[in-house]
Amino acid sequence: MCFYDQTIYACNDFKWGRFRTHCAKEYRTGETCGMKLIYQTTRLAERCTTCKKMEVIKNKIYRSQEKIGRWAAENAFPVSLDLERTSVMGWRMELEQLEANRASRRRNFG
Ligand SMILES: [Zn+2]
Repeated sequence: MCFYDQTIYACNDFKWGRFRTHCAKEYRTGETCGMKLIYQTTRLAERCTTCKKMEVIKNKIYRSQEKIGRWAAENAFPVSLDLERTSVMGWRMELEQLEANRASRRRNFG
């Protein structure tokens, strides 16, 4: 086990920071092991990169869907409608991927 700094974001996601010190057992070998322990925690008021990225994508989806909704209300079918729909699908997939990554990171605690 080895000690690392940890940063906790406003969204409760975290990331490992600087390596601090070996535990007693690893100290003799001078190597670091895979097991991470918290040396010091820093809390940040901002959200993590993943959550920020997800927020941006969600906004894009929201705006795009608004546009699509407006067209539907006006009974308009512009050429860009398909493009808009394809974009939303792509963003949804991106969002799912980010969510899956975040979930697995939370499960593994690191
Ligand atoms: Zn987050």
